[in-house]
Amino acid sequence: MNYEITGATKLTALLGSPVAHSISPQMHNEAFRQLGLNYVYLAFDVTSETLKDAVAGLKAVGICGFNLTMPLKVDILPLLDELTPAAKLAGAVNTVMVRDKKLIGHTTDGVGYLRSVSAAGHDISGKKMTLLGAGGAATAICAQAALDGIPSIDMFKRKNATWDKALEFCQKTSSKTGCKIRLLDLQNEELLAQSISESAILTNATNLGMAPNTSVSPISDPSILHKDLIVSDIIYNPRETLLLRQAKERGCFCMNGLYMLLYQGAAAFTCWTGQEMPIEIIQKKYFSN
Ligand code: NAP
Repeated sequence: MNYEITGATKLTALLGSPVAHSISPQMHNEAFRQLGLNYVYLAFDVTSETLKDAVAGLKAVGICGFNLTMPLKVDILPLLDELTPAAKLAGAVNTVMVRDKKLIGHTTDGVGYLRSVSAAGHDISGKKMTLLGAGGAATAICAQAALDGIPSIDMFKRKNATWDKALEFCQKTSSKTGCKIRLLDLQNEELLAQSISESAILTNATNLGMAPNTSVSPISDPSILHKDLIVSDIIYNPRETLLLRQAKERGCFCMNGLYMLLYQGAAAFTCWTGQEMPIEIIQKKYFSN
């Protein structure tokens, strides 16, 4: 397909730091090429300190949308004009759409994650989830799972300075969706074992196990993983974390974060272009596990 940058090419981008390793530019540019869309997607190294200037500049040159990665998903909030209901609930934004010069914040991490679970052949509706972590990705997953009708979620995190904020998130999401959400201490192994024994899916949305710290796992006793459990680590570097190796040995169905990355990107692509990303082509080219 003919694909040329022209005077009318529309700009989309990824903002974060670091971004040089990101697969998102290849994924989006290939999808634009496949569909013959006159868009380009670039990655810009932007920090919390440079975000305000970067966003003002991109807005001034007419960017039509952008993604945000760590650590900017929360930093962007005061710079936005509006939030979608999912972003409002999650309190974090990974996708911005520019409409009538207004910046609209959205999150596709939650829908992307849940789509990756169903694409793997699992239906978790009506079942319980144990979710580790309470950061940007965890709150997006929790909010979307609650909006999608998951009846019960146990969110485990460290008891530290962000505990009260996470508790407020759980109470707000619970009251808005009717999902029963408990915030529990990640150090409490007894409660963790109990929660996992009642759950259909265990989702790791902490950084534990992410490169370069690949020798750690959020689970210290792998015997608490039962064979009917889906163990899902949203980390994709490395492809197989220590948690997934522990789960594999226990006979669990294992998923890494690669397909969440694909599906959250596909949802952002639709926000900007109004079209479906050609998932199969992109998956084959960039996301083979
Ligand atoms: P974040 O907002 O910084 O949140 C990180 C979470 O990990 C927080 O809950 C934090 O705990 C917890 N954590 C960090 N170090 C810990 C430790 N030593 N012990 C216990 N908990 C610890 O980051 P994020 O954006 O949510 O990303 C989290 C992970 O998800 C990263 O590995 C990222 O690469 C991955 N991710 C994957 C995708 C995908 O598409 N597959 C998308 C987004 C993120 P506290 O709450 O106590 O601070």
